[in-house]
Amino acid sequence: MTRLKDAIDDRREQLIALTQDLIRIPTLNPPGRHYLDICEYLQARMSRQGWKCDLIRATGTPGDSDRYPRWNLVARRAGARRGDCVHFNSHHDVVEVGHGWSRDPFGAELVDGRIYGRGSCDMKGGLAASIIAAEAFVATWPDHAGSIEISATADEESGGYGGVAYLAEHGAFAHVDHVIIPEPLHKDRICLGHRGVWWAEIETQGRIAHGSMPFLGDCAVRHMGAVLAEMEASLWPLLAGKRTEMPVIPEGARSSTLNINAIHGGAAEHDADYTGLPAPCVPDRCRIVIDRRFLMEEDLAEVKAEVTALLDRVKAQRPSFRYELRDLFEVVPSMTDRDAPVVRTTAQAIQRVLGHEAAYVVSPGTYDQKHIDRIGKLKNCIAYGPGILDLAHQPDEWIGVQDMVDSAKVMALVLEDLLTLKG
Ligand SMILES: [Zn+2]
Repeated sequence: MTRLKDAIDDRREQLIALTQDLIRIPTLNPPGRHYLDICEYLQARMSRQGWKCDLIRATGTPGDSDRYPRWNLVARRAGARRGDCVHFNSHHDVVEVGHGWSRDPFGAELVDGRIYGRGSCDMKGGLAASIIAAEAFVATWPDHAGSIEISATADEESGGYGGVAYLAEHGAFAHVDHVIIPEPLHKDRICLGHRGVWWAEIETQGRIAHGSMPFLGDCAVRHMGAVLAEMEASLWPLLAGKRTEMPVIPEGARSSTLNINAIHGGAAEHDADYTGLPAPCVPDRCRIVIDRRFLMEEDLAEVKAEVTALLDRVKAQRPSFRYELRDLFEVVPSMTDRDAPVVRTTAQAIQRVLGHEAAYVVSPGTYDQKHIDRIGKLKNCIAYGPGILDLAHQPDEWIGVQDMVDSAKVMALVLEDLLTLKG
């Protein structure tokens, strides 16, 4: 274990340089820029050291085009004898920069032990840590058993269909035994899974008429107002009262939640170059997008039935009320068992590197584990990686160098545990 830890410490400068190189490739999603560049960069590095690399384009997936192709990289190293396959999966895409930065978002400046940049924490720091962990492990145990895979995948930030979902559909996880996703959950936390998601669009329908004679029409916005009032009166209190046994962080997400992601009704907003007044009409359509996050203890059919029942209560009180409910997206909750091999091994490694017990958490939102679970049919999967989750998608996002070093040691120890016969 000391030799392995030393091998990571010896690579500290390499870890910094690798993280900086990755941040400096602005893999913005949407629309999906520089995916090939980052995959080719990683391919060059990994194949120099004898890893077999596959560049895979997720042709035909949402967003894929010749201008913005969805490229993924899978690097593989087989050991000296049979054994388990350990797969590290990181997404290589980053979200938009946004406002409020005091550093260059793609400059990867190193200041006081922190590397700044979009994607530093979510999750190029985790990707770099897993690569350094694997390289240090291979140098220390060149005759290891089994195999190691490192994937850098597209589009996690937009659902993962051009990334992990595509790979899973094409059998990439069929031979894999353990998956670690180095998302920024913090170096002493093991993330077991995530809550469920249901997105839906609710449209209330009325009849257009002149705004000066609204009694001749039927206002869809007023119908929506009644829907929202009913949500305030009955749905949000009901959801707040539902609590899960899942160790979700932050604490507020231990209840069921529902967000209104958008509302649109009546005349469309005009372009900035239109300087005239709007026309007076009674709105005949109003739409909201609801974002319902649900718990292990809840059933998706019941979650949907709560909303349908609410709409029917409104309908009973408003004779002309009509609505449509459209499903947009759904993912059931996923939680790996605490006794799963990858969980136990990672918990032991955290104890050995950091000197205290691992914390077990569940993510309020989903990430690529959903595809590994549902499409890849592999339950033995966790998220574990350096970084502070709250910094993800924020201005002045950063990753701590020491956190990356520590979590690389944990990952390397996991490999040692799973792929060598010690003693
Ligand atoms: Zn992420």
